[in-house]
Amino acid sequence: MCEWYRRDYGCGHHLIGAAAWCPAYGQTHRRCTVRIAHTEFTWDECARCVSKKTQVPVPWEHMIDRSKAPMSLKWLRGNV
Ligand SMILES: [Zn+2]
Ligand SMILES: [Zn+2]
Repeated sequence: MCEWYRRDYGCGHHLIGAAAWCPAYGQTHRRCTVRIAHTEFTWDECARCVSKKTQVPVPWEHMIDRSKAPMSLKWLRGNV
């Protein structure tokens, strides 16, 4: 039987992977029944969430000059 493991991430997702393939898989290339041998937990986020997050801060964000906001907006804020 192949050895499977499950990793639970802090973001709520989980991953099931094979820790080791048994000789039968090497011969037939057929996966055995998934039998999770051990489960581990990490507070980290899964690769998908991490890649999503790194995309959020736009690289050119710091180049946007917000001080050039329209005057009317500043007036409105000042009156409130
Ligand atoms: Zn196997
Ligand atoms: Zn995730």
